[in-house]
Amino acid sequence: MKKHNFSAGPSILPQEVFEEASKAVLNFNNSGLSILEISHRSKDFVAVMEEARSLALSLLGLEEKGYKALFLSGGASMEFVRVAYNLLHQNGKAAYLDTGTWAAGAIKAANNFGETIVVASSKQDNYTFIPKEYTIPTNANYFHCTSNNTIFGTQMHHFPDTNIPMVCDMSSDIFSRQLDFSKFGLIYAGAQKNIGPAGTTLVIVKEDILNQTGRVIPGILDYSAHIAKESMYNTPSVFAIYCTMLTLRWLKANGGIAAMEKRNNEKATVLYNEIDRNTLFTGIAKKEDRSTMNVTFRLNDENHKEQFNAMWEAANINGLNGHRSVGGYRASIYNAMPLKSVQVLVNTMQEFEKSIK
Ligand SMILES: *Cc1c(COP(=O)(O)O)cnc(C)c1O
Repeated sequence: MKKHNFSAGPSILPQEVFEEASKAVLNFNNSGLSILEISHRSKDFVAVMEEARSLALSLLGLEEKGYKALFLSGGASMEFVRVAYNLLHQNGKAAYLDTGTWAAGAIKAANNFGETIVVASSKQDNYTFIPKEYTIPTNANYFHCTSNNTIFGTQMHHFPDTNIPMVCDMSSDIFSRQLDFSKFGLIYAGAQKNIGPAGTTLVIVKEDILNQTGRVIPGILDYSAHIAKESMYNTPSVFAIYCTMLTLRWLKANGGIAAMEKRNNEKATVLYNEIDRNTLFTGIAKKEDRSTMNVTFRLNDENHKEQFNAMWEAANINGLNGHRSVGGYRASIYNAMPLKSVQVLVNTMQEFEKSIK
C-alpha cells in the first residue's frame, strides 16, 4: 500500500507524475525509446526542456520581465557557490541573512569569494525564528536569504525592501505560495523538495544583474554560459528535468500557485491546530515564523517516544523523524501532500493522546 510520505527531501510528488514518468521510462512519447536512453539534444527532449523553462517562468509570473529559467546540476549547494562567483564583485561584499543550516552553508561558500556581512542570525536559538530587525547595507552587491528553512520549520512571511539584488534559496517552498517574484534578482531551488526528483536545480535569474563582477568565471560555473547554451552547456539531468516538467504541468492543471497556497494553508492549519491542542506535543518554531511546508514539533515527554513511533509507523506514515540537529518530528507537507494524509497524522496524534491518558 502507498505510504503517507512526510519525508523532507527527496520527497513526495504527485501520483500522476510517478505514473506518467514510469510510462516514459518504458516508451517515451511513443518513440520506441526510453526517456533514459535518448539524446538530450533530441527533438523530444529539447521540447521538454523548453516546456519546463516556460512553465516555471509563467507560473511565477515572470514571463517577459528579463528573467531566464535554467535547470542546472550540483544541487542547491552548487548555487551557494555559483551565486557568489557570479554576483560578488572582486573586492566587493555580500549581505546574508542567517536563518539555518542551509543559509550558513551559503555564507560559508561565499566567504571564498569576498567579504560576507551577516545582517542577522538566529543561530543562538538553534534557528527557531526568523530575525526581522536588520539593515541591509546598500553598498553590498546582493542580499541573500532562505525563504523556508527545511530543517527547522521556519519560513519568511515578509521579505525586506532593498535596492540591491535580492537572491533567495527557495528550495523547499518554491511554487507553494504567491509572492511578488519580481522582487528577486535570482531564485534557486533544488528540485527534490517541492518540484521533482533529486538531480536538478531550478535557477531563475534576471539577466541584467549578471556580468558585473570583473571576474573570469569558468564556463560550468557561469550563469551567462548556461543561458547562452539553454541549460545544455553540459548534459543536463534529463530524467529529473522531465519529472519536474510533469510536476509543473500538474501544478498548472490544478490551479497554479494560488490553488497550491490555499491547500497548503489548509493542511498546515489542521496540523498546527492539533500540535497546539494536543497536550503531549509542542511546536518547535516560533509561531509567527511557522512554515507551511515543514512542520516541526516534539513530544513533551520523550519517554513516550517508542510508543508514538510505533503508532505512526503502524498508520503507514513514513519520514516523520526530525532532522538530527533538531530532534523531535518534522512533517513535510509539500504541494503534492494530500490533506487526507495530514488527517491520518492528526488522527494518529489524537489516538496516541487517548492511549496515554
Ligand atoms: C535541501 C536544501 C538545500 C541543499 O540542497 P542540495 O540539493 O542537497 O544541495 C539547500 N537549501 C535548502 C533550503 C534546502 O532545503
